[in-house]
Amino acid sequence: MSADRIDGKAFAAKVRGQIAAHVARIKAEAGITPGLAVILVGEDPASQVYVRNKGEQTLEVGMNSYEHKLPADTPAEVLYALIDKLNADPAVHGILCQFPVPAHLSETEIVARIDPAKDVDGLHVVNAGLLASGQKAMVSCTPLGCLMLLRDRLGSLSGLNAVVVGRSNLVGKPMAQLLLRDSCTVTIAHSRTKDIAEVVKRADIVVAAVGRPRMITGDWIKPGATVIDVGINRIDAPERGEGKTRLVGDVDYDSVAEVAGAVTPVPGGVGPMTIACLLANTLTACCRTHGLEEPEGLTA
Ligand code: NDP
Repeated sequence: MSADRIDGKAFAAKVRGQIAAHVARIKAEAGITPGLAVILVGEDPASQVYVRNKGEQTLEVGMNSYEHKLPADTPAEVLYALIDKLNADPAVHGILCQFPVPAHLSETEIVARIDPAKDVDGLHVVNAGLLASGQKAMVSCTPLGCLMLLRDRLGSLSGLNAVVVGRSNLVGKPMAQLLLRDSCTVTIAHSRTKDIAEVVKRADIVVAAVGRPRMITGDWIKPGATVIDVGINRIDAPERGEGKTRLVGDVDYDSVAEVAGAVTPVPGGVGPMTIACLLANTLTACCRTHGLEEPEGLTA
């Protein structure tokens, strides 16, 4: 058996197209342009690339992008004052602080400072609580992207056995909540789970969010299962030349593809969906603030 390769890059392009169409409509009908503010503290090269990509894609779908670059030694009070200003700014519908931040700053306190209605990363405890209690929430972008890929592939998820490997606040927990909301029977596996291969083998849906290169192999997978690989791991790639590296997921793609029904590649699977969902969340936040119709299929 050779699994279908789920093309997250193509699906993310489709999602961005839907977002652009909805943005154009609300601009024309309500005269409102959604706006996303991204804060970057320090000069981490990977973060600079992420922030640049986010800014470019925000503009491409017709939204306003506001970038705030602060020096690495910015005191917490200065950062909080900026967040307060953005919370109060009616042109800003989404606020994101790029993590990691320098060690003297607390990610938890930064997230707590952001207005939950503008928390497009879905990390505020208010949004975690709303999600857990089945109410309208801002949902963390990566799990939302995984959910969209699963719905697109499988249609209804009702009654399916889902195993989420990983229990982080960023991915594993919100992913499990979303699958539960779609009426899956959900198991969360983690580093203390016993017989993890057997647990995963019962799953119709596997979401891997662990951070361990190629941990999940084909012999863990139920034939025909749908496998979503969130992991991004950089490994040495001497075959590409001395000192070269490459990205792999938490799933051993080749052996899993021999058993699964469908699997996402790394790169080109979940990754592109994350930024698309950030844009979707900004649009949703804008629509909720102004009482406008929300984009169909782009929320949980
Ligand atoms: P965390 O490190 O916060 O969480 C990892 C989870 O995996 C923990 O719950 C941990 O269990 C569990 N775990 C670790 N080792 C094992 C093991 N041997 N067996 C079973 N479970 C294990 O990571 P994140 O959730 O933030 O990210 C996970 C991966 O997803 C990373 O590779 C990250 O780079 C990637 N990622 C990708 C994104 C994308 O856009 N595609 C976005 C966000 C993350 P325990 O709690 O018991 O320690």
